[in-house]
Amino acid sequence: MTEGIENKVVVITGASSGLGAEAARHLAKAGAKLVLGARRMDRMTALAEEIGLSQDALVKTDVTDRTQVQALVDRAISLHGRVDVMINNAGLMPLSPLEMLRYDEWDQMIDVNIKGVLYGIGAALPHMKEQQSGQIINVSSVAGHSVGPGSAVYSGTKFAVRAISEGLRKEVKPYGIRTTILSPGAVDTELPSSVAAEGVSERVAGFYKDHAISADSFARCVIFAMSQPEDVDINEILYRPTRQE
Ligand code: NDP
Repeated sequence: MTEGIENKVVVITGASSGLGAEAARHLAKAGAKLVLGARRMDRMTALAEEIGLSQDALVKTDVTDRTQVQALVDRAISLHGRVDVMINNAGLMPLSPLEMLRYDEWDQMIDVNIKGVLYGIGAALPHMKEQQSGQIINVSSVAGHSVGPGSAVYSGTKFAVRAISEGLRKEVKPYGIRTTILSPGAVDTELPSSVAAEGVSERVAGFYKDHAISADSFARCVIFAMSQPEDVDINEILYRPTRQE
């Protein structure tokens, strides 16, 4: 299932842990040329050693700063001359009911989960247009399809990722660019640790302990979407643990 992945230049945001790191492991094995971004360089350095990736391919990136996201994509261009796949994966999920008025977390989710994705699109799109090819993979969620108590803002950001991706899909048709939304359910990563609200964090941790599946599931979806022939555009994969409602 890894055809068409060898030598593709793939940029991943949020590559220091969880889904981004696991996708990097699978893609490295399949022969992709990776360029990885996140804020925690120590974690990316350890990952790069594990998968045999040069340190040049790591860029300290805070996705809320568009110049840093541009620098991440620029590194792919300077190292490899092109960007074939942009995976806008960085995100956080500090769930809480609106009445708790956790303004800082609302701002953070909007900045990372929405603006971070937009900056990733903005950095990669001009290159893909010029190449007349490319694939932009944006990470939404099951929470981008349904809203529960406590997930109003997080779901809002993940609905936004789907809306932005669908608009992008329609706009980039003339350039041969493919667009994919990956929408997982509960997957075992560090994501629940971003929940800080009292009473909510324990509930979310318990839910993940009972339901979450391995991050390998996400990496396999990335590989599937990327390995289709160029004339096949996988627009969304929505999946969840078999046990999850
Ligand atoms: P993790 O917490 O394990 O990873 C999140 C990643 O995002 C880290 O690498 C972190 O890197 C990065 N990140 C956070 N803030 C920033 C920032 N400002 N700039 C750059 N990178 C940032 O969680 P997941 O791997 O689970 O999350 C990845 C994506 O998957 C998110 O968009 C999440 O919403 C989505 N998702 C996850 C699900 C799950 O159950 N795990 C389900 C559905 C969707 P660093 O801190 O080093 O910057």
